Amino acid sequence: MYNPKSLKAEEFIDDAEIQATLAYAEENKHNRELIESILEKAAPRKTGRGTECAGLTHREASVLLACDIPELTEKMFRLANDIKQAFYGNRIVMFAPLYLSNYCVNQCVYCPYHYQNKSIPRKKLTQEEVKQEVIALQDMGHKRLAIESGEDPVNNPIEYILECIHTIYSIKHKNGAIRRVNVNIAATTVENYRKLHEAGIGTYILFQETYHKKSYEALHPAGPKHNYAYHTEAMDRAMEGGIDDVGLGVLFGLEMYKYEFAGLLMHAEHLEAVHGVGPHTISVPRLRRADDIDPDTFDNGIDDEIFAKIIACIRIAVPYTGMIISTRESEQCRNRVLDLGISQISGGSRTSVGGYAGYEADERPHDTEQFDVSDQRSLDEVVKWLMDLGYIPSFCTACYREGRTGDRFMSLCKTGQILNCCHPNALMTLKEFLEDYASPATKAVGEKLIREELEKIPNEKARRLAKEYIENIHLGKRDFRF
Ligand code: SAM
Repeated sequence: MYNPKSLKAEEFIDDAEIQATLAYAEENKHNRELIESILEKAAPRKTGRGTECAGLTHREASVLLACDIPELTEKMFRLANDIKQAFYGNRIVMFAPLYLSNYCVNQCVYCPYHYQNKSIPRKKLTQEEVKQEVIALQDMGHKRLAIESGEDPVNNPIEYILECIHTIYSIKHKNGAIRRVNVNIAATTVENYRKLHEAGIGTYILFQETYHKKSYEALHPAGPKHNYAYHTEAMDRAMEGGIDDVGLGVLFGLEMYKYEFAGLLMHAEHLEAVHGVGPHTISVPRLRRADDIDPDTFDNGIDDEIFAKIIACIRIAVPYTGMIISTRESEQCRNRVLDLGISQISGGSRTSVGGYAGYEADERPHDTEQFDVSDQRSLDEVVKWLMDLGYIPSFCTACYREGRTGDRFMSLCKTGQILNCCHPNALMTLKEFLEDYASPATKAVGEKLIREELEKIPNEKARRLAKEYIENIHLGKRDFRF
């Protein structure tokens, strides 16, 4: 029986409720009146506290996703863009993945790290190698990482992950620092989540892969990840362990996208109902070619148009949740969806274990790679590209370091303080990037952008302080924040 407040996976991701949602969406996909009223409900509104959005239920959002009337789809895209502008403005947060180990005891049939793959070399970074990787990432200009690891209690126990986090935070190379480490490791116990929380992680990210239980079990035929309930209930354990910011995602291409979409939103509703705060981020990975993985053998691939619509509908349904897109996607695809709700992208990424240190910007090792990277540009190129498109690449990590996690971050969003806070923080961290790491062409574009954007800070005191801090960054000081 469907119950968003239940702590049981099969009750908050209830298959019958998803089937009923899909039937309702199909029945109403040409119901203009209903669709217009859903779009109206989701539109940003000025209130005494700032700008607010009501969001949508999984049923309402599923109707939007099912609707195939071109003019209404265009309206959805415009609304997604309005919501994005209202809460995230033109800032795009930058990050990079850091692969620690590809030892894995699971048998995910879509992932080349699966246990039975004997052709892929297995590698686990030593602490000295972690240090070299982090120096290489800092020298590119990164401040925020997502660490990635296979699941293997012998080779990659929680103690190993904690040691790596400690090493990452301890390295300060030249002006570099990693100020936020997000963690993407397999579902674990409350006790281990508490240890991760105490180690100072940012977001705990875990992709559901698929919400469809039967498919999930078939796609994970053996190993600890086979257990659907344990995996699906992981975010509740993470929150119980003290982690406020959790990141959801499904791997698009495994199951029917409409099913996944409804499941994803039900998961968000569940977190809100039980913990009073929804997911901090939602990722939208699509299946990619990899060592012994051929994405064409999976039946549920989605094209770029549907992908864009999914992103727009997520943006409309959960307006305050950050949305992440990785270098699995091409430059062209990333360009299209930035406007529709994406707030965070990776740049200069390597998906192999030890892929950064000792390699030139245009050189990439493929032997231990998790999947083919589609967008292969360097971080400097991605930063310049974003600025040429009118976005502000941001290396900001201030919210987490100021304790603005969970509902405190959401309330910053809702009260419209973002322009006085996130906006200057983005400009200051971009300035650090320009001073320390940018090519002359990127620097020229960035300096002009910063001058123009500083004038848009509404609060006079914040504007004056931001200008002062930026001058100080030019003089060699670092790490200012609001
Ligand atoms: N091992 C951890 C787990 O099981 O959750 C997480 C780390 S794994 C390196 C990160 C994610 O990569 C997985 O959750 C999966 O969604 C994604 N992934 C695996 N194989 C992929 C492929 N062939 N193409 C695209 N993404 C893939």
